[in-house]
Amino acid sequence: MKRIVVALGGNAILRAKQLSSYEEQFDNVRRTCRQIVELIAGGYQPIFTHGNGPQVGNLLIQNEAASALVPEVPLDVCGAETQGQIGYMIQQALRNELHAARLVRPVVSLLTQVLVDADDPAFAQPVKPIGPFLSEEVAEQRMRDKRETWAHVDARGWRKLVPSPQPVGIVDVEVIHALLDAGAVVVACGGGGVPVLRRPDGQLRGVEAVVDKDLAAARLALDIHAETLLILTDVPGVAVNFGKSNERYLRRLTVTELGTLLVQEPFSAGSMGPKVRAAYRFVHDGGGRATICALDDAIAGLEGKAGTVVVPDDAMQLSFHP
Ligand code: ADP
Ligand code: MG
Repeated sequence: MKRIVVALGGNAILRAKQLSSYEEQFDNVRRTCRQIVELIAGGYQPIFTHGNGPQVGNLLIQNEAASALVPEVPLDVCGAETQGQIGYMIQQALRNELHAARLVRPVVSLLTQVLVDADDPAFAQPVKPIGPFLSEEVAEQRMRDKRETWAHVDARGWRKLVPSPQPVGIVDVEVIHALLDAGAVVVACGGGGVPVLRRPDGQLRGVEAVVDKDLAAARLALDIHAETLLILTDVPGVAVNFGKSNERYLRRLTVTELGTLLVQEPFSAGSMGPKVRAAYRFVHDGGGRATICALDDAIAGLEGKAGTVVVPDDAMQLSFHP
């Protein structure tokens, strides 16, 4: 079976303008799982990662609202909780869709810890906004009393910023290997995984940070020797001059071409940037090919018929000189 890491974008679980009711989330997950079953029927063994932004956002609102009643849930624990909530939805929906397609596969979601480096420069510069918009007054109080970083994000107000360090390893990778060898469809590194530091004495400790889910997916894909990294989102692929009159979607490029482009084109930091960097990292470090495409084009994207495909340099030569 061909192992592929599939990074599910936010739209796999929540579509634009939807409230985050569990009924809606389950409906979307069911639709996504139908696609996934097609991949499985096509002979692929998918390993999934997914985002958790809106779900963590809701937990942080609960933190604020219930602060007089129960202890605050720290961000690493929120990450663990949402891997459970989303993993549960995927596990159940995927089993149901497999059952309907008369396919038998074990399905498991694995609470995953992702190693980050205490010396990562990201820790000195928090950039990832999380949680609810609050007033300037509250933001100032948190900055003073809790030494947190807050920024005036837009007209809606102030938001807390946390670091977004690079994933340097997957703590639980040997368990993922064992599950894959047993033929399981695995959900891992949800929300980028829970970021943890390894102290000099070897002990792990959760940190208040967010690892980008696409970069975690690239790390995971390298570590399990996946043949493809498939990043599914809500646009047809990667565009240059995105949103401008001369916008152009990229179809197929070598990793060296992408490297050149990364220097020239300012891909937006909170959305397409990490996907493009994840694709680059995976192919550059010897991983195979990477595809960024729309959720509904998953199969076509894997076959190179849709989306933006990043291939190793030698693969392009082969295709020119068959
Ligand atoms: P996901 O939940 O799938 O990670 P994101 O919102 O983080 O989704 O990223 C996808 C979004 O990136 C698209 O909806 C699009 O608006 C935006 N985007 C920014 N720059 C580009 C670009 N150069 N090409 C295509 N999409 C882009
Ligand atoms: Mg994103």
